[in-house]
Amino acid sequence: MKCIDEFRQQDLASTLSEAIAREVSPERQYNLMEFCGGHTHAIFRYGVQDLMPKNVKFVHGPGCPVCVLPIGRIDDAIRLAQDHGVILCTYGDMLRVPASGRKSLLKIKAEGADVRMVYSTQDALKIAQQNPQREVVFFAIGFETTTPPSAVAIKQAQAMGLKNFRVFCNHVLTPAAIQNILESPEVRDIGSVSIDGFFGPSHVSSVIGSRPYEFFAEEFQRPVVIAGFEPLDVMQSALMLIRQLNEGRHEVENQYTRVVSRDGNQKAQQLVAEVFELRRSFEWRGLGLVPYSALKIKQPFAEFDAEVHFNVETTPASDVKGCECPSILRGAKNPTDCKLFGTVCTPENPMGSCMVSSEGACAAYWSYGRFRQQDTSPGDNKMESVA
Ligand code: SF4
Repeated sequence: MKCIDEFRQQDLASTLSEAIAREVSPERQYNLMEFCGGHTHAIFRYGVQDLMPKNVKFVHGPGCPVCVLPIGRIDDAIRLAQDHGVILCTYGDMLRVPASGRKSLLKIKAEGADVRMVYSTQDALKIAQQNPQREVVFFAIGFETTTPPSAVAIKQAQAMGLKNFRVFCNHVLTPAAIQNILESPEVRDIGSVSIDGFFGPSHVSSVIGSRPYEFFAEEFQRPVVIAGFEPLDVMQSALMLIRQLNEGRHEVENQYTRVVSRDGNQKAQQLVAEVFELRRSFEWRGLGLVPYSALKIKQPFAEFDAEVHFNVETTPASDVKGCECPSILRGAKNPTDCKLFGTVCTPENPMGSCMVSSEGACAAYWSYGRFRQQDTSPGDNKMESVA
């Protein structure tokens, strides 16, 4: 398939693997955080870690939109469906995320709440048009990639004069989260989490461009390489990060030039700026309250804001006892450090968001089964790894 097969070729993976092996200095460690869950899954699906020298380690970050949503916000969505009787429209990944009291959107749907899985904001708008007597709430989650469609839906609802359509806005911002990780005591003071460089997210960067990363690359002296989602993208980006680290540089480089520009999609940015504004602070699972890291609906569109209309007041809630999602999302632990991994917690019976989401780190570990492999030295099973 054009634009996919080219980025999965075994011979090129072999060449890149050898180039990385030549580039790394045996004296040092390279800890590279992939912010985005899409990268985590590419790494596990294609065995990219096995193609790296032993001193190059991937650290998984918080870039999974389902995983970072705190339980309190899922509780809010459940209350909207159960107590206010709305039709709650949600993406499929959210359905099985455990909430307080062992509830989930799927469980309350089974009990009779009107929870509907949608593929897009357009589906939710259609449901609102088809059910003028009912309140319809779109449970909006995600990073900068999914924010423009929410803005479009709100503007469309306004243009159509829809009076029963609301958005429960949970859109969050990538650069603020990366900055929060770099400022965390674990990274800055204690050094228990070591991050030498970042793979910048692909889809998010197609919207915001590479420019927003320039501040913290300079401020925190960490290189950033915007990386595509295919295995060769990740490998080439790793080589670019390793080169920067060897040369003492901390710049923003763009490997994903076929999609990402420095300024991003300005039309989408303008649309988002028209409909949304910054929240002073927002809770992230794993990161806690992060200042200016999320969006809310602007006052001129307040009639479409579910939080305003239903007077939503979020109550903080705890994660399932023993679930290590918060530490995993900060890069402080791996899924296999969790005692529940693969025993109590599996994709069929998830205890935490990282096992539910198709972008979650626990799901990546479990789905591709690489945690079962013995430690392999670089070069072992190289060519079996990339499809
Ligand atoms: S394995 Fe399950 S319980 Fe453990 S951290 Fe992952 S999602 Fe949470």
